[in-house]
Amino acid sequence: MAGVIDIFVELPLSHRRKDVVDQLSANGQLYLACAKCTWEDRVSPAAAVEPRTLLRLPCPRCHGRKRRFVRHLVRVPARCEACGRETTFETVPWKDRRCPNCLSAKLALSDVEVVPPFPAVFGELDGMHTVLGPGSDKAHPWGVSGKEDARRVRDEVKAAVQLYPDPQFHTLIGAIFLRDLRSYCDYEDDAGYTWILQLEGLLLQDYFRQTGDIPAGPEAVRVDELATASTKIPALHASLEHNRAMATYSLPAR
Ligand SMILES: [Zn+2]
Ligand SMILES: [Zn+2]
Repeated sequence: MAGVIDIFVELPLSHRRKDVVDQLSANGQLYLACAKCTWEDRVSPAAAVEPRTLLRLPCPRCHGRKRRFVRHLVRVPARCEACGRETTFETVPWKDRRCPNCLSAKLALSDVEVVPPFPAVFGELDGMHTVLGPGSDKAHPWGVSGKEDARRVRDEVKAAVQLYPDPQFHTLIGAIFLRDLRSYCDYEDDAGYTWILQLEGLLLQDYFRQTGDIPAGPEAVRVDELATASTKIPALHASLEHNRAMATYSLPAR
């Protein structure tokens, strides 16, 4: 779930534009909801979108014209270790959390949840709003096939890494998006969950190699172990074992 792992999230530049950053959900994505039928579409800010123009696009489900950005935020009850004040934050992982009373950052966090929860199935706003370039603007239903979702995220991260000056942050956002997909979607394909986990592990491993950010190393190993444990398909199992060995090997000797 968003915000649970101990990795500090720094947003890519493409996500930090004022009109974009104020609409982002906790996994660094934009979600557009229909006021009439509640259907949600996702857009990646890496597609250099204009949030205001997105609001003019009708709902693909009911053709309703009333749409708004919905922010899926992390809700964390916390207790200040310095002054004892109890607070509940509704926040995003790239924002500093401090005690409102004494400004201490030493907070004991309890159960994290996402409010409102991420949708289990949702659409993709395509056409010109894609980081993938022309020819890739076919509809993508998220939350149906784990294999297809993993492929789409892989292609998007690959494109963003080539396009932008801060590839490491696009890699991390990709991993976080995958984590929410596997937490909230109920995939129809048997190995779907495993595909998501496998790519998530690889992206975390990449991010760790690019930045040396310590918590990302053990997290990559943990996710790869989950991927290995989740599959019974021998060929896939072997390739995952290989990834796991690589991730373990790249951990720093500390
Ligand atoms: Zn609708
Ligand atoms: Zn305090």
